[in-house]
Amino acid sequence: MVKPETHTRSASDNVAHVSILGATGSVGISTLKGIEEHAGRFDVTALTANNNVDLLYEQCLKFRPEVAVVANEKRVDQFSARFSGNGYKPDIFAGSHGLEQAASLDEVDFVMAAIVGAAGLPATLAAARTGKRILLANKEALVMSGSLLMDMASQHAARLLPIDSEHNAVFQCLSGGSEREVERIILTASGGPFLKLPLKEFAGVTPEQACAHPNWEMGRKISVDSATMMNKGLEVIEACMLFGKDPSDIEVVIHPQSIIHSLVAYVDGSMLAHLAYPDMRVPIAHALAWPQRIHSGVDGIDLAKLGPLEFTAPDQNRFPCLRLAYQALEYSGSAAVILNAANEVAVESFLKAEIGFTEIPVVVDAALQHVEHENMQELEMILTKDQQTRLFAKRFIEQTGLRH
Ligand code: NAD
Ligand code: MG
Repeated sequence: MVKPETHTRSASDNVAHVSILGATGSVGISTLKGIEEHAGRFDVTALTANNNVDLLYEQCLKFRPEVAVVANEKRVDQFSARFSGNGYKPDIFAGSHGLEQAASLDEVDFVMAAIVGAAGLPATLAAARTGKRILLANKEALVMSGSLLMDMASQHAARLLPIDSEHNAVFQCLSGGSEREVERIILTASGGPFLKLPLKEFAGVTPEQACAHPNWEMGRKISVDSATMMNKGLEVIEACMLFGKDPSDIEVVIHPQSIIHSLVAYVDGSMLAHLAYPDMRVPIAHALAWPQRIHSGVDGIDLAKLGPLEFTAPDQNRFPCLRLAYQALEYSGSAAVILNAANEVAVESFLKAEIGFTEIPVVVDAALQHVEHENMQELEMILTKDQQTRLFAKRFIEQTGLRH
């Protein structure tokens, strides 16, 4: 279980050397902003991107990492050529192996795991294997890994700090009592852009509407997951793994204002909540500085100006993806791998306008019913199940006429 016992920085770790996996994404960019605010405290050792080599190049010029990784091997030459005639050039690595190298460099202390989706799993495991502090945003990696990531982290004394705002909030609230005094964990959910949309209009929702989250600016995949509430489903699984809880110990409550990021209920009837404006710089600053605190660049809440905070139970008919995630937890074994892979394929198809919004849970449900569930202990088995599910989901979309 990830729990906040105290720890003091030693004199020798005054500068933390950071590797940012997924530097060009929403979380990666916010992390670099946080680091920039505290120049001298953090040093950027490695940056990685998939396709956006223009932004990666700009980030390299600004932060001067020793290593840069372009995951998409077809873009490596284009990236490398940008440095010609320049005094500075980082070591450039490519592909999934390059990501693992960036995560496990000897000089790296902290790894920000901010790649989206299953692609981030091998590098996150590499960070765990080499005992890094892992700032975990890449929830899909944890959801897929079963107990592998948690076990590897504990074996190699790698400290996992949650970046997902809800889990970061829970982590902070857990310092209010001991593990056995915790009665349950309450994850808040904004409900996304379609909380109040009439159900009959769901089928016509466009990718642009789904990506227009009311409170958070995020990458497109997590934005769609927020609109279907699969994001909350993945987060329930993430919470079970991070905090060693059963699904019945995790409650989800809709809180459209996204001010309370989650709560912990204790046996004495007390509930501790974490409040902040919805801005990822807050949990990122917390995890970068933990166990100390640093300025995040985000103001504290002006309570008098806040207005009412609302809470309601989620409607499972409106959001079948949330139910499917609880179902995957009941099946256990590879079900979470299947849920995640089918969802990634379905979301990608929806974003390309190949399938409709309401067809996302249809694809995930079919995969959970038809792809064989097995016990998974090794990375190879997990990756094979992930691939098998992706093939199933793509064929299902083609063959059932879901593809428009
Ligand atoms: P994003 O789409 O904005 O960025 C994704 C990053 O991953 C980019 O740097 C991209 O280059 C890289 N990437 C994508 N595919 C890759 C591949 N195949 N190989 C290597 N790199 C690849 O996503 P994001 O919103 O920053 O989210 C990143 C992760 O953080 C996700 O797991 C998401 O669920 C989680 N998260 C994000 C937020 C948020 O506010 N954005 C909040 C909580 C959790
Ligand atoms: Mg979250």
